[in-house]
Amino acid sequence: MSDRILAAVMEAPHQPIVVREFPLPDLPVGGALLRTACSEVCGTDVHLWHGRLAGVPYPIIPGHVSAGVLDRVRGGLEGIDGSVLREGDRVVFFDVHRTCGRCRACTVHRTPTRCTARRVYGITDSAADGLFGGWAQQIYLEPGVGIARLPDAVSFESYIGGGCGLLTAVHIIERATMRPGDTVLVQGTGAVGLSAIALARLSGASTIFAIGAPAARLDLARRMGADVVLDLDATTAEERLELVRAATHREGVDVVVEAAGSARAFEEGVTLVRDGGRYVVAGHYTDVGPSTINAHQHINRKHLEIRGCWGSEAGHFLRALSLLERHAAHVPWAEIGSQRYGLHSLNEALADAAAMRLTKALVDPWLS
Ligand SMILES: [Zn+2]
Ligand SMILES: [Zn+2]
Repeated sequence: MSDRILAAVMEAPHQPIVVREFPLPDLPVGGALLRTACSEVCGTDVHLWHGRLAGVPYPIIPGHVSAGVLDRVRGGLEGIDGSVLREGDRVVFFDVHRTCGRCRACTVHRTPTRCTARRVYGITDSAADGLFGGWAQQIYLEPGVGIARLPDAVSFESYIGGGCGLLTAVHIIERATMRPGDTVLVQGTGAVGLSAIALARLSGASTIFAIGAPAARLDLARRMGADVVLDLDATTAEERLELVRAATHREGVDVVVEAAGSARAFEEGVTLVRDGGRYVVAGHYTDVGPSTINAHQHINRKHLEIRGCWGSEAGHFLRALSLLERHAAHVPWAEIGSQRYGLHSLNEALADAAAMRLTKALVDPWLS
């Protein structure tokens, strides 16, 4: 193996991605080196490229959710799934690391996704610190990173197809306190929305509605488990409201999941949820500006619960793996990541993702 590793670097927002060489890191005890098999270009990477996330220490090696084979391990390595990990094992890792476990968010409020010390591979780790992103031939897994064996039944493509969107969806379903037979409406048919549809189905939803675009994503939304898909571009908000009411005893749905990242979607969501229902907001990952709602009409009189959902925890990561192991054979997660790109084609991948020509791109850093 060469002692020089190729990685694709985002030097600053709006700048072309460049491929650079990095030295092979010296491993501390408890550290590991992952030979990347697959990473992703997701909506977050487009936001990073557009400079829409605060506190990003550019230059970075993007690619926060990745999978591969353990290339080198120093000292014993135990996975957070309880497995003993060895060189040659197919593994995945939880991209969030350095959550401190001591701050007020971690201990007093028990909201570790709001810990200020936490760092995320490919997002808040700088390329100046080394190989902390998946758009690279090797990824440095520092001591303490949550690593788990990728179950044999799960392909790299299924894992990355689910990717960060699946972890977020596990958190969303938890926040929604879903009950068997609930009617659910998912706004947005990107990677998060598609996985939320699949998990709502697995959680016992009765009718699942999805609002999204373009047509290819709506087709996939159906195959992920949506019963009724509404094309955002071909229907009006009034038509959608009437259709949802007509199918729900004129009440609206029990649970709405916002995975659209649009201020207008939020305004519409509060009308589609029933009185006393639950509305989980997960798509406003960046600031897309204010929404206008009437607090009397849409929250207070409606007795509505609105819940935010930020990031994910190691438990969501492990449960996502269990769900993939059990269900990836019949839920088409692998189809979310439709195209493969090598390190030299990532400008094109970002442009395709930004233009919604694909839901998610797969990154194969060994593809020339
Ligand atoms: Zn903390
Ligand atoms: Zn992502």
